[in-house]
Amino acid sequence: MLIVMKPHATAEQIEAVKEKISSMGFTAHSIPGAQRVAIGITGNREALEAEQFITMPGVADAVRVSQPFKLVSREVKEEDTVIDVGGVLLGGRQIVVMAGPCSVESKEQILEAAAAVKRAGAVILRGGAFKPRTSPYEFQGLREEGLKLLALARERTGLKIVTEIKDTETVPMVAAYADILQVGARNMQNFSLLEKLGSLDKPILLKRGLSATLKELLMAAEYIVSRGNHRVALCERGIRTFETMTRNTLDINAVPVLKALSHLPVIVDPSHGIGLRQHVPAIARAGVAAGADGLIIEVHPQPDKALSDGHQSLSPDEFATLMKQVEGIARAIQRPLISALPG
Ligand code: PEP
Ligand code: MN
Repeated sequence: MLIVMKPHATAEQIEAVKEKISSMGFTAHSIPGAQRVAIGITGNREALEAEQFITMPGVADAVRVSQPFKLVSREVKEEDTVIDVGGVLLGGRQIVVMAGPCSVESKEQILEAAAAVKRAGAVILRGGAFKPRTSPYEFQGLREEGLKLLALARERTGLKIVTEIKDTETVPMVAAYADILQVGARNMQNFSLLEKLGSLDKPILLKRGLSATLKELLMAAEYIVSRGNHRVALCERGIRTFETMTRNTLDINAVPVLKALSHLPVIVDPSHGIGLRQHVPAIARAGVAAGADGLIIEVHPQPDKALSDGHQSLSPDEFATLMKQVEGIARAIQRPLISALPG
């Protein structure tokens, strides 16, 4: 249930509502950023009676939330959540592009990639330091050394950094370096990890599981938000289908559906979504046209030499060409691109 307070409700009246919720054994959540003061209630197994709250001083309305995901739903917060990543606004009118290699491989590689993606207009640098690989024999990432190199790239370019968090043990270490923590597809339902990220004061990029439904993705986001971390962005990165010509099937449907069901920003990952370099630009353009708030794209200075996902990584030139196209599409839907370029 959602308790909507009257516009001039006093702090005491708000507190009284929260206390009543706690005394009933449930949890009260302030909904940040909402134009009106609203308090979400979770923890109740059965529907609550609106009358219990409506009669309290300062309360305007008590509304049943019909979706199983409560705090992330549009029902509790009509306006879009805008995540401030050190000045880069994710989920606002402008489209945000994150780009960089699948994995951080060396100082030269990450600095070159960072400079190239910045030149083309990306504002956030991606790069994995802890890599969840299908095979234990494949490159597992440079770990803390990779995080240090990302921090160096940020220092040199001013780009913010997004990197994957693979397990609960490394949360403090990764959080000390990253601007956004990425939860990979394979970890979307790692509930211990989600709970830990819920009490962190860092934006989270939550990727959709390989065979997760949109409801499961939203419930995973609810795990984080219900613990108090409201800065979560959802990422469609393709799901596993019967199709074998492409690595995954990017579910373009997810974009408008998630935007309608939830107030959280939605990011599209065309690289893992299709897995084929030559087709990444088409899917990136489609993502923006469908209403995504941003893109996360793999770019490598020398894709053919990449230690992971080279087959789906764009070269710096291909990325620069794509950025011009994305800018055109963004403009056509009245959503300018946030560009690192001055002016
Ligand atoms: C990645 O971003 O490199 C990655 C491993 O993505 P996903 O978790 O979507 O497979
Ligand atoms: Mn990758």
